[in-house]
Order: sequence, then C-alpha cells, then structure tokens
Amino acid sequence: SVQGDVNGNLDPEETYRWEEGDKVDPAEQSLLQKLLRRVVVNCNDQVEVLQSDPTSPLSSVKSFEELRLKPELLKGVYTMGFNRPSRIQETALPMLLAHPPQNLIAQSQSGTGKTAAFSLAMLSHVDPNNKWTQCLCVAPTYELALQIGQVIEQMGQFCLDVKVAYAIRGNRVERGVKLQEQIVIGTPGTLLDWCTKHKVIDLKKISMFVLDEADVMIATQGFRDQSIRIQRALSKDCQMLLFSATFEESLWEFAERVIPEPNIIRLRREEETLDNIKQFYVSCKNKEDKLEALYNLYGTLTVAQAIVFCHTRATAAWLSSVLKQEGHQVALLSGELTVEQRAAVIERFRTGKEKVLVTTNVCSRGIDVEQVSLVVNFDLPVNMEGKADHDTYLHRIGRSGRFGKRGFAVNMVDSRLAVGILHQIEQHFHRKILELNTTNVGEME
Ligand code: ADP
Repeated sequence: SVQGDVNGNLDPEETYRWEEGDKVDPAEQSLLQKLLRRVVVNCNDQVEVLQSDPTSPLSSVKSFEELRLKPELLKGVYTMGFNRPSRIQETALPMLLAHPPQNLIAQSQSGTGKTAAFSLAMLSHVDPNNKWTQCLCVAPTYELALQIGQVIEQMGQFCLDVKVAYAIRGNRVERGVKLQEQIVIGTPGTLLDWCTKHKVIDLKKISMFVLDEADVMIATQGFRDQSIRIQRALSKDCQMLLFSATFEESLWEFAERVIPEPNIIRLRREEETLDNIKQFYVSCKNKEDKLEALYNLYGTLTVAQAIVFCHTRATAAWLSSVLKQEGHQVALLSGELTVEQRAAVIERFRTGKEKVLVTTNVCSRGIDVEQVSLVVNFDLPVNMEGKADHDTYLHRIGRSGRFGKRGFAVNMVDSRLAVGILHQIEQHFHRKILELNTTNVGEME
C-alpha cells in the first residue's frame, strides 16, 4: 500500500495509485446495507414486468390479506411491523404464491423488500407436516445466510412446526441422515456438499429454490458453477427464483441459465444526476494546502453535514486525526474496519453525532448522501488505470433528481495529474466545474 513520509505527505503521483486493499467487496457492501437498513426503501420507481405467459392475467396486491396467507404467517408479518407490501412485493408476492408455481427473476435495489418477499413465499410454501427439506435458499456468504435466516425465523415465529437449518461452514451433519428442517439456507459450497457428498438433502424433493444476491454470487469465484450444479439436480417442477440488486449483462446471462421460463420483475431506479449539484474546484499546491482549503470551507459554510473522500487509507487517517486535533468532530470510515464497525460509524454520522465523515473509496457506495449537503473530494476518484472514475464521482456527489435536494461538491486539485482528471470529469458530464476562491465562496451559502 501507499506509504507517506512522517507527515503523511505523498508524492502526487502516489496519491492516485490504486490500493489493492481498497477494492470494494460486493458481499461486504451488501451486508453493510442490510445492517444499516431498518425500514423498507420507499420508492415510486417504475415496476417493469415481463411475463413468461403474457396471456395470463397479471395481478398485484395492495394488502397482505389479499394473499390469503395462513393466519400464523400473517400474524408474523404484522408482528414485524409490515403494514402493506412494498413496491416490488406488490407484484412479486402474487407470482411467488401462484398455482401452478411460477419462476421469477426479480431485481431491485437493496432495501426494497426482496428478502422479506421470498422469506414469506418459503414459509407459505412449506408443509410443516412433512419432515424433510422442501425449500432451499442459496446466499453468497455466511453472514448473509444468517441474515436471511433471521428474517425467516422472525416472520415464521408463529409457524411452530416450520424449522430452519443453515448449511454454512462449521455446521456439521451426519452423513446419510436426512434433515428434517423444511427450509435450508446456505452458501453454495457447503450446500452442495450437504446434498451430494453427505446426502442429507434430497434435491429431487426440493420444490422451491431461491438464489439470493445473485450479482454478488457470480462475483465470487466458484459460486456460479456450484449454484448451477445444485440447480441442475433439482426436479423439473421445482419453483426457481432469483434475486439481485443489480442487473448487468453477466448477471442476465447467469439468470437465464438457471431460471427456466422466468417471469421478470425489475424496479428501475431513478438515475443519479448532477443537476442539483454545484461543483467547484480549489487549486492547491500540496496536501497541507488542501487542509487549509478545507478549514476555509468550514469557516465559510454553515455545513449541515459533509463527507470528505480521500484516495488512500493513509490520507484519510492523517486527515481525520489532524481535524480531531483541531477540535472538530470527525468520524473516520476506513477499509480496515469490520462491516459491523463500519455500520456503527455510518449510524453515528446519520444521527448527527458527527458532522464530518472522512472516508476512502471503499465506502463511497452504500452511504446515503441525500442528507449530506457538502461533498469534498480531497482526492479525485480514479480507476485502476489512473483515469477519472466517473461512476464513483457520480455516486459520491450525485442525487436522484426527483427527491434531489441541492448540494455542493468541492474538488481539491493539487497536481497536473489532478487537473487532468478534473478535465476528464468536466468533459464526461458536460458540466463546468468552477474555481472556488475568496471571490465566489459566497455562492455556496
Ligand atoms: P432487500 O432484500 O431488497 O434488500 P429486505 O427484504 O431486506 O430488502 O427489506 C429491507 C428492510 O425493509 C428490512 O428491514 C425489512 O424488514 C423491511 N421491510 C421489508 N418489507 C417490508 C414491508 N412490506 N413493510 C415494511 N417494512 C418492510
């Protein structure tokens, strides 16, 4: 990783070198989102539906009663505080509960209610009198499998005869002794072992198969093939379901391979834009100069909350400690922290315990910046080739248009390289980035 001198000073070229350890881990990001999310994301996003049989009527529901759930399951849903189906659940739940069973590919951003939807479907689907595994759910990590299990166990708290097992590392089973739990959640490798090597689950008896976080799954070496191997061994009339937060080409190819004749539901997320954002840059000579500029911003602005992005952990750690020494309340969010620690830092910032959050690239996604009025790029975002990283720039400072409050972005520019990156960003977004100096700093108020 990048080393600075005793003062943390870096060669400007070094400032933009990619740090291996700061690669974003999609599974960790996803877990972070789950830890932070306590309410469903309320959105009016457009629901797109593609039915495998376009002649069958498309139903959607506005209430849980319409679903005619077992009373003990409905009680569980209400006990969780769910009053009505979320946007994606309105359309997904009738499909998930349909007779004859329908296959489904569903995509919507994190926090929109996908896990709750298939948990409800599994609980509704199982026959508690049958003491064998009927529903299988594949998740990309140990922690995510446990998160799903928590939802099922909470929602199913009144379904007394329904049991859940976890096919995750560390959990042992006795070879050849079939599990009695109706629902099994696990990671692909362990689950495959349990089915094929230890033979504790009969894949032919599985009637509902769920692949959760499919986008994270295919990003993990080996999981794609293991999932396909499990799916191949299922009976033809098993209901197959796939969920994903994103929908890229590679995911689509995978989804079509594992889900035959799917219905498809997508919640199109409103694109982030820079429309409501005033963008500035400050010319600096070096890092101390950048710090000076940051102090000036502090003084001029009555900032609600601000996020300061640095390229490396070293810079972020240095900056936050200097700001703290100056008596500012600052939070540091860095890649070294565990996911739980990161969630705690973000939570403190969200609730206003700290006004300023200093962070690196790792954390730029997953933080909801709607409440943040000022974003400072202490270092500009670059990709592994050292070019401007436009996506990250947009994620850091962009807002979704409809709810978009006004915001400010200030880019610190301290080298020829940085100037070049700034120009790339200007050209890419067709937006002028104005120089911020003592004459126009008032514009920001
Ligand atoms: P996703 O799987 O899309 O990330 P989740 O199913 O985890 O979304 O739901 C996100 C949050 O919203 C969770 O805290 C969950 O308990 C809550 N939630 C889900 N569905 C509803 C609903 N219909 N009403 C209220 N809260 C809900």
